Amino acid sequence: MRYQRELRDSQWLAPTQLYALQQEKLKRLIAHAAENTNFYRDRFAQNQFDVHADDAVSELMNIPLLDKQTIRDHCEDMIWQQTPGGVYANYTGGSSGEPLKFYIDKRRQAYDQAARMRSHEWYDVRVGDRELYLWGSPIEHTRTDTLKRMRDWITHHQLLDAFEMSPERMDIYLNKLERFQPASIYGYPSSIALLAEHGLEQGRKLNLPNLKAIFVTGEICYPHHRQTISEYFSAPVTNGYGSREAGFIAHECPEGNLHVTAENVFVEIIRDGKRVSEGQAGEIVVTHLDAYGMPMIRYQTGDIGKLKPGRCACGRGLPMMDVVEGRTTDFLYLPDGSIKHALSIIYPLRELEGVKQFRVLQQADYSVTVDIVCENKKACVTREAVARSVLPVLGHEVDLQIDLVDRIPVTRSGKFHYVTSDVSLPTITIPQEISSDD
Ligand SMILES: [Zn+2]
Repeated sequence: MRYQRELRDSQWLAPTQLYALQQEKLKRLIAHAAENTNFYRDRFAQNQFDVHADDAVSELMNIPLLDKQTIRDHCEDMIWQQTPGGVYANYTGGSSGEPLKFYIDKRRQAYDQAARMRSHEWYDVRVGDRELYLWGSPIEHTRTDTLKRMRDWITHHQLLDAFEMSPERMDIYLNKLERFQPASIYGYPSSIALLAEHGLEQGRKLNLPNLKAIFVTGEICYPHHRQTISEYFSAPVTNGYGSREAGFIAHECPEGNLHVTAENVFVEIIRDGKRVSEGQAGEIVVTHLDAYGMPMIRYQTGDIGKLKPGRCACGRGLPMMDVVEGRTTDFLYLPDGSIKHALSIIYPLRELEGVKQFRVLQQADYSVTVDIVCENKKACVTREAVARSVLPVLGHEVDLQIDLVDRIPVTRSGKFHYVTSDVSLPTITIPQEISSDD
């Protein structure tokens, strides 16, 4: 709650004041990382980095970028062992095809949550308002977390499983949605668009007078998704950009601009190893200013974007950005007519030990090929273990082939696109952008 009040005020600060706040927080984070983690102590020393530089933003350019492989190799050494409240493991990187384990602490989590609530307030959605989730998530939190969550959920939340989207299921979802009368809907744009498309096709009219906004996140929101969703639900669609490992990076305001959560996240746009200026596109590189448990300094998101010059008409001083290319997800189709969000197969795969990279391809006859690149020759995952993890998702009717390969070729467009399907169902329109590469 304290962080939330803090962020509620700071969003109106002038850009220069926010920049000063970032400098201060960056300086503190760097000093902390140098003092309390073996990894950063070595990394700073090797690069003759000035830990106490006054202009931390400029000095930051002397630290190498942080990629997933480096985190994988040095994960334990990146942790602050004395983190108040401890750190706990998290997994991510599913849709990039490169699983990643990392650690998160309570303070960072509270800030990310406060930033999320702030973005809800932009649409007049308050803490405690009813929110419907169209989401799929692996079971990975601890029991106490589960109990706390249960308490909150019973009163204010309803979860519909985005991994189970058969036409029959979607009819049930629309009924539940109307009974629940949410103030907001939250989920993957592709899944919400699928539900909206189904409702439109069925001619099923919804009466949702309390609905103020639809929050989409987790993947690129295409204009046609946005249009279908807002048309069907008669509410604005608002896009959030972030990830578990990098934090709540940015959110779209009612004026349609994606504002960086500048108080918690420092964003750089990098091309050919150099920081580019506003308006120029490059890789989005993020430093979470409040991640003390496991500092992530100059983390490469793999997404392409740019910072936008100027000020937004909404009056907020938070910098603006655009995400040009990011994660895209596809669906898998089962012979019984059910539709599986790509993440439903990504989640079990990314938690397998010994998997460095994977790719899932579905052919037009419903058969599925899973390509796996092993972490190393000694600790390679077995085909049986891969099968055990994906069969509960695919069922036994689907022909499954698992190949252990040396490498997975990059797609022509360079897009992260590791689950694709060639199955086309007459009732489902697969967006051109999604189906046409690879
Ligand atoms: Zn704005």
